Amino acid sequence: LVVLTDVNKHFGALHVLQDINLSIRPGEVVVVIGPSGSGKSTLCRSINRLETIDSGTITIDGKPLPAEGRELARLRADVGMVFQSFNLFAHKTVLENVMLGQVKVRRRKREEAERKARALLDRVGVGNQADKYPAQLSGGQQQRVAIARALAMDPKVMLFDEPTSALDPEMINEVLEVMQQLAREGMTMVVVTHEMGFARSAANRVVFMADGRIVEEAEPHQFFDNPRSDRAKDFLSKIL
Ligand code: ATP
Ligand code: MG
Repeated sequence: LVVLTDVNKHFGALHVLQDINLSIRPGEVVVVIGPSGSGKSTLCRSINRLETIDSGTITIDGKPLPAEGRELARLRADVGMVFQSFNLFAHKTVLENVMLGQVKVRRRKREEAERKARALLDRVGVGNQADKYPAQLSGGQQQRVAIARALAMDPKVMLFDEPTSALDPEMINEVLEVMQQLAREGMTMVVVTHEMGFARSAANRVVFMADGRIVEEAEPHQFFDNPRSDRAKDFLSKIL
């Protein structure tokens, strides 16, 4: 579904993505872990073209990423992204946040967009918050709204970049549960996270990055119980 081939990217002299090759199959949940600065966010951002790459190719359903215009807007809808900071529109209600892209990019009628928004807000457990503004919600609620907003676009794949890192501990689980549910329903997902419990239980595959490279790729039980590389062993010894 998503294929990265020989992808390279620099920020000035810094080689942030080095010869990245990665294929994500439909329905697969890939958890990306690695030390700070290893290029995890840049990798995610490249997949929906929030960053451009210097060389190599990224395709979705076999098609290269579009560069601009309506095609780019459609790409961003097809590739839903949820960030550490919730990035909701502060001056719009929760309901409007989840309707906006549906109307503008997917060209749905308002009634249809509202129906879908309400159903999704129910599904992530914030159906009773629809008429509030983001600032009136807890972090966990805001993040679930952000997930609903991305899902409203019927994405082909969802990217999560440390979606629980900014949350108070008691709110982490309510967001992880929504993600677990999505994974069970067969959503294709790329998840950057430090939540190793989630990685163990939800991931089909763990991708370990260090210094802009994919150092190791394995099933979770193999990666956590028997990491092959010294970099991964070192990393795991620090976080587990
Ligand atoms: P973290 O775990 O801290 O989120 P990360 O693995 O997501 O780290 P990236 O955010 O992808 O890492 O950053 C990789 C490297 O690229 C870092 O050294 C970072 O400082 C650098 N970098 C990221 N964005 C930019 C930018 N816009 N301009 C210059 N350097 C950048
Ligand atoms: Mg990051």
